[in-house]
Amino acid sequence: MNPQHAYSSWAEVDLSAIEANVGLLVKHTGVRVMAVVKADGYGHGAVPVAKAAIRGGAAWCGVARVEEALELRQARIEGPILLLGWVPPSRIRAMAEAQVSIAVWDPDQIQAAAATGQAGGPVRLHLKIDTGMSRLGAPPEQALELARLISARPEIVFEGVFTHFARADEPSQPTTVAQAKAFNAVLETLRAAGLRPELAHAANSAAALTRPEAAFDMVRTGIAIYGLHPSNACPLPSSFRSALTWKTQLAQVKTLPAGRGVSYGHAYVTREVERIGTVPVGYADGFRRVEGGIVLVKGRRTPIVGRVCMDQILVQLDGVPDAVEGSEVVLLGQQGGDKISAEEIAQRWATINYEVVCGIGRRVPRINV
Ligand SMILES: *Cc1c(COP(=O)(O)O)cnc(C)c1O
Repeated sequence: MNPQHAYSSWAEVDLSAIEANVGLLVKHTGVRVMAVVKADGYGHGAVPVAKAAIRGGAAWCGVARVEEALELRQARIEGPILLLGWVPPSRIRAMAEAQVSIAVWDPDQIQAAAATGQAGGPVRLHLKIDTGMSRLGAPPEQALELARLISARPEIVFEGVFTHFARADEPSQPTTVAQAKAFNAVLETLRAAGLRPELAHAANSAAALTRPEAAFDMVRTGIAIYGLHPSNACPLPSSFRSALTWKTQLAQVKTLPAGRGVSYGHAYVTREVERIGTVPVGYADGFRRVEGGIVLVKGRRTPIVGRVCMDQILVQLDGVPDAVEGSEVVLLGQQGGDKISAEEIAQRWATINYEVVCGIGRRVPRINV
């Protein structure tokens, strides 16, 4: 069914774009690609995105939560999955049973994994080293001791070692080079002790695009697989395609006289006779309550007027006399010859494109096209 007949607002996800973007990353980096599909595939839908990424050549999937890993397994995605973040100790067993690899950085986690492994089969571990993000991970000085602890226990498998860059999306900053150097030193120490695991990985999308020397054995790409730019300073090559278009439609169109207040607080008042359209999307759908927004109607940039409500916004239709009730409205993406990018909305909302797509609400159905 045409989603316009069924939904107030919906997001169309072009899975062929995701497949092609992953293919570009495989070719560009020459190493294994992990498709990062945490946060419901950055709002695009984790399961269909993971399947498209695997079709495009992704060898691994990355997630941030236990529930996200289990969702992929329940959808019969059988390839390797790494839980990049913290696993609550009581859930290590569930991850082992689902054959999900987990990140560890302290002896207690390693002991807990070994105890779980004893009871329920091998647990695969990736040792996380904090080389400068100051978030999760062990200091580089502890890498060897932790690697020894892991290797001493037959119930656990030392599968990988990894780190995460803090400023890879600012290519002119020297931080990434310093972090890669510290990570290389850790790898050298492990190698010298005969303990270097099969998979060393560090690069997010920005580093995968700009730092070939930091690709190691695998890159962990999120934002780029969705065709979104890591940052203004680190744009994607033009061959990447954005995958998501957020659509809605005109629920009502009315002609108002001059001097009529529009929406809560009457923050907008008509200056003359104006055509105002009501669009069924609001902040409860993840469309932020920020003034001065723009949507596309009939391929033309059309201003949002008055306050964003929980379930509705109002648009000023004087520039689109051919718009009628039922006309398609694009909030994010292309319509006709124009496009509103996630980056443009991010600027308006004083945030980043990542948060724009992750914030699209649960009640907005994702339609794969
Ligand atoms: C989210 C995440 C990534 C992916 O980052 P992008 O900038 O979206 O490519 C990679 N590694 C870790 C540890 C992450 O948390």
